[in-house]
Amino acid sequence: MKKPRVFVTQPHLPPLEEFIPYLEKIWERKVLTNGGPFHEQLEAALCDYLGVEHLCLFSNGTIALISALQALDIHGEAITTPYSFVATTHALAWNRITPVFADVDPHTLNLDPDKVERAITEHTRAIVPVHCYGTPCDVDAFQKIADKHKLRLIYDAAHAFGVRYRDQGLLHFGDLSVLSFHATKVFNTFEGGAIVCPDAATKRHIDHLKNFGFTDEVTVETTGINGKMNEVCAAMGLVQLGHMAAIQEKRGKIDAFYRERLREIDGVRLLDTPAGTESNYAYFPILIQENYPLTRDQLYEKLRADEIYARRYFYPLISEFPIYHGLPSARAANLPVATLAAQQVLCLPIFPDLGLEQAGRIVSLIAQP
Ligand SMILES: *Cc1c(COP(=O)(O)O)cnc(C)c1O
Repeated sequence: MKKPRVFVTQPHLPPLEEFIPYLEKIWERKVLTNGGPFHEQLEAALCDYLGVEHLCLFSNGTIALISALQALDIHGEAITTPYSFVATTHALAWNRITPVFADVDPHTLNLDPDKVERAITEHTRAIVPVHCYGTPCDVDAFQKIADKHKLRLIYDAAHAFGVRYRDQGLLHFGDLSVLSFHATKVFNTFEGGAIVCPDAATKRHIDHLKNFGFTDEVTVETTGINGKMNEVCAAMGLVQLGHMAAIQEKRGKIDAFYRERLREIDGVRLLDTPAGTESNYAYFPILIQENYPLTRDQLYEKLRADEIYARRYFYPLISEFPIYHGLPSARAANLPVATLAAQQVLCLPIFPDLGLEQAGRIVSLIAQP
């Protein structure tokens, strides 16, 4: 019998019966977008779920990132990580901000605060770290650096939905945090995103920005964009939220299973999670060391031959893409830790409906190279 294909993730879809009544409501109301009732309801529900006070929904995480940088009026240079999804740096480029890459910490693969501080110049205006794989950044160190050098701190929290750190939501840190609700993420609204902001005035400003800059029917105050989330996506979010506890429980079990089995395999390294982290189990990265019998790419191919589609997140580094590789900070010599990680990392399949049997099959393939 042919083995089923297992991808790195599989979008979570709630039971269709739960979604249909929301669609009926949309058809009945004929309000499709522009801050409709489901949009308002989802903003409130997410504030509640995430333990934040203000949040602006967006059509996707990338437009939210671009808008967050607009909202804080960032120009000049921003220091960021090369070890992320390319949208993190693209958002800077779309604002004509020069990305400056700094290296990551070997334990978490998050931006290294010491490397950030060394990369600061008179043109630096912001730091844009990523809570990579949902692992909390060294938020205290970044805040200290931001305060000392009067820099803005914008977190790409696309991986960090629902992560708690030291008994509070991770989204409290920095000036703004940006979420993605793309289909591949832990919480999805088909496509979607959000900016978490500290106060009502900032929220109002961002709400105007995402609606072309309109502040009322006839007034346009800023060069806004169309970043609005529509009612179908907002309804999806409302339905998904009801399943988050069950989703997290299933993910947690897979994570624990992988951890226990993979820990014993020589040449396979797992990442550290800082003390005080309540993870969302969004990703399961492993690092293939030199003493493992296969290279990372050989293992990747071996798994594929068995219908297991693990992913090399994040390879290539953003700094390796030709559009960014000319930047002085993009040289591999400036980014040794990220460069090595990009050669070693493999993200294993993890999603709520991945049975432990499948996870066991994946572990066996890795254990018997
Ligand atoms: C998914 C992702 C984004 C982009 O989010 P979209 O909603 O797909 O636009 C940005 N940054 C990181 C780190 C991501 O993983």
